[in-house]
Amino acid sequence: MSTRACAVVLAAPSGTGKTTLAQRLVGQSSDYVFSISATTRSPRTGEVDGVDYHFVDPAGFEAMIADGELVEWAEVHGNLYGTPRAEFERAAARGEHVVLDIDVQGARQIKQRMPGAKLIFLLPPDVQTLMGRLTGRGTEDSAALARRLHSALEELQVVEEFDYVVVNDDLDRCLETIRGIVSGKVEMSGSGAALQSARALRREIGRILEEDYSEYTNAKR
Ligand code: ADP
Ligand code: 5GP
Repeated sequence: MSTRACAVVLAAPSGTGKTTLAQRLVGQSSDYVFSISATTRSPRTGEVDGVDYHFVDPAGFEAMIADGELVEWAEVHGNLYGTPRAEFERAAARGEHVVLDIDVQGARQIKQRMPGAKLIFLLPPDVQTLMGRLTGRGTEDSAALARRLHSALEELQVVEEFDYVVVNDDLDRCLETIRGIVSGKVEMSGSGAALQSARALRREIGRILEEDYSEYTNAKR
């Protein structure tokens, strides 16, 4: 990888805006590309091989591991996922930053193997905003909402492993901060305050899960 190009790992509790931010980063500047992972999971409706994922069978995935073709890999929800090394080599040759949407196990491996990688944890401004973003389309039933809240609780547990913590309040400001981190203009932003807000969010989400959260479901019906 060239000195300029770097790996940008984005992690966030479900509903924070990770997908939106990653799409803007890649959509607004040709300096950023998505890393297209390999997976043994079956394609969902609308997913295209080579665009959303490289869909491979378990034997094909094992061969990629054996041949050293993956920078990191992990089992997530019973399927194997991995980041192809070739994506990095192509991006590095073009001086582009690679945006990775990977799980925490993968983020840890990237941190170990690519010391220049930027690991960024995104936080919602507060729990009400998170609930609003999670339920904004009004299509979430309570079981789906509970699943997403439980996964948010797990994700919030690993904040301290990340070098940078950025609050996704105003989208453009958040994008500017991420670009600043990647270019080296923004230095360490993970702080005690960020850890405290992550803990407060966990407490509040825990409370919502214990109470009746039906007021948050089917919000726009
Ligand atoms: P994630 O990938 O983290 O689950 P999404 O990117 O799907 O989250 O965003 C969840 C919802 O929040 C979407 O409706 C998105 O448009 C909205 N959203 C994301 N970031 C912001 C922001 N900074 N301000 C307002 N709405 C946002
Ligand atoms: P999904 O199947 O919903 O697309 O993704 C499930 C999970 O796998 C998400 O948390 C996603 O971030 C993670 N994931 C996707 N690609 C990779 C990858 O290449 N490596 C790792 N470690 N996790 C991945």
